[in-house]
Amino acid sequence: MARTFCGELTPGVTPRGKTVLKAFEYQDVRLLPGMLLTQVGQARQLYSSISNDDILKGFRHEAGRLAPGDGMKGWCKSTSAVIFGQLISGMVRLGRATDDGALIEKANALFEGWFETLPPDGDARMRPYDWDKLVCGLVDLGQYSGSERAVAALRRTVAWASRTFDRSRQPADGHDFWGAGPGDTPEWYTLSENLYRAYLFFRDPLFKEFADTWLYHGYWRRFAETDAPHQVLPVHAYSHVNSFSSAAAAYLVTGDESYRQICINGYDFMLKTQCYATGGYGPDERIMPPDGSLGRSLDVFGYHAEIPCGSWAAFKLSMYLMCFTGEARFGDWIETILYNAMGATLPPEQDGKCFYYGDYRPSGGMKTHYWHEWPCCSGTYIQNMAEYYNMIYLRDESGLYVNLFVSSEATFEQGGQSVTLRQETAYPEAETSTVRLKLKKPARLAIRFRVPGWSEGMSLAVNGSPLDVLAKPGGWASIDREWKSGDTVLITIPMALRTAPVDPQHPDRAAIMYGPVVLAQDEACCRRPFSISPTTELNTRLIREGEGLRFRMTNIVPERHTRYLQPLYSVPGFWPYWIYFDLASPALY
Ligand SMILES: [Zn+2]
Repeated sequence: MARTFCGELTPGVTPRGKTVLKAFEYQDVRLLPGMLLTQVGQARQLYSSISNDDILKGFRHEAGRLAPGDGMKGWCKSTSAVIFGQLISGMVRLGRATDDGALIEKANALFEGWFETLPPDGDARMRPYDWDKLVCGLVDLGQYSGSERAVAALRRTVAWASRTFDRSRQPADGHDFWGAGPGDTPEWYTLSENLYRAYLFFRDPLFKEFADTWLYHGYWRRFAETDAPHQVLPVHAYSHVNSFSSAAAAYLVTGDESYRQICINGYDFMLKTQCYATGGYGPDERIMPPDGSLGRSLDVFGYHAEIPCGSWAAFKLSMYLMCFTGEARFGDWIETILYNAMGATLPPEQDGKCFYYGDYRPSGGMKTHYWHEWPCCSGTYIQNMAEYYNMIYLRDESGLYVNLFVSSEATFEQGGQSVTLRQETAYPEAETSTVRLKLKKPARLAIRFRVPGWSEGMSLAVNGSPLDVLAKPGGWASIDREWKSGDTVLITIPMALRTAPVDPQHPDRAAIMYGPVVLAQDEACCRRPFSISPTTELNTRLIREGEGLRFRMTNIVPERHTRYLQPLYSVPGFWPYWIYFDLASPALY
């Protein structure tokens, strides 16, 4: 019954778009102890503890009902509409992934409380923006907890929205960067995805008709034939990446190849011209013209990338593309974001304070809370926690694909038996990962490992014997053989220091990376950022020391204190750090 967005759909509509790979069901993957599970555990605890009455207070008040509880602050002050759908979506998905029945129950209880406030005419009293998130939550409740009442609510409220929403569909531009005018419709172009999902799962033609209404041809057309559109508009970053997921859903429903190509070109456009080394994008929440603006943005703003929402959009687009194409390279953005964007957030707090912007200033950044409580990013944060489970493995008839090197366990059916694959690793703080298989009887099976685009010389060994496999960066390294229980694969991915210039116009303004990890300087005492002459090798100035990823800087003058680089993800909150350096500043050598 439970289906992820790349899954096979029954008893809904058969997608016309072709998928080469399938994502896993949330409940078939388990995270083992490690940094991701720690983050997930904190989120589970926090989101489980928010009072239902507080979340529902605004809706009950608007409906003239008894409304106990204190309500919420910030963006959720009048009602929690802005994140309500994301909360129930995230809770039911994460409940599935972590086998947390109480969290699924909470999502259902919130839905029931909200449903009581929905009038017979389906008027959800929401803007299209909030309502889009509601649709996602209702689809997920139907899909992952089998709630027929959620599907009934969906039908009722889609009919209302279809009668009442402003259909101006103003294309976003530099003056109205998210299409808000004239009818308060910001981000209207993201509506299609969840409505198409509703159609694929639950068949109602009204869902498809209303999804068709919000297709964003005017913007997508720019990416139909190229990943370098000749005019790049300074439009809202997260929602425009999110709109590519609507194009992906349109591909699934129609099978029209042009939507698939738009997604591929959109992905390449983002990776080539919009992303910082962390995988985050959108300074001041805008898409940048590829003329050096991204590099200059580091001086201009302190809010460089909307992390939880931007990650959510990037995760979805990357997963759609992995499923559509079977190509490993679309996993690279996921990995970069996992460690350096989502991995470098602060956990949300009880009163709604949460992490929103990545801060990459060359004059020193800081992990901090957003100035309003319960913003959009508190909704996508819990959804991202669930997606962690969805992105580690993929599969097809021939076997399994290991996308991420994360301590975890996946269970799947192969050749009429249940196979368990267990992965244990300290990656990215170690260069190796070990995979062990558990099967009842020997079976033929292809296991493929993503070869990261940045890597060189990745190698595999089965039961201790090195294998001669092709490991081309951006591709899959494949082992197709008969496996028996207890067989192990050792994956070795050598890592080295490298610089990652922010854009071609600023070759010396760069982040320093080690494998997939963005390194940060965090010594608060000597606030002089790292620099290095263009002719000096990085590894003569940065020496790895001790446990974890810690690099000591050598030959700093004046050397009052020893300074280190460490992963951005391990820098604590409210503590200064640098990740972008003007490397060739001669005064600072
Ligand atoms: Zn956000």
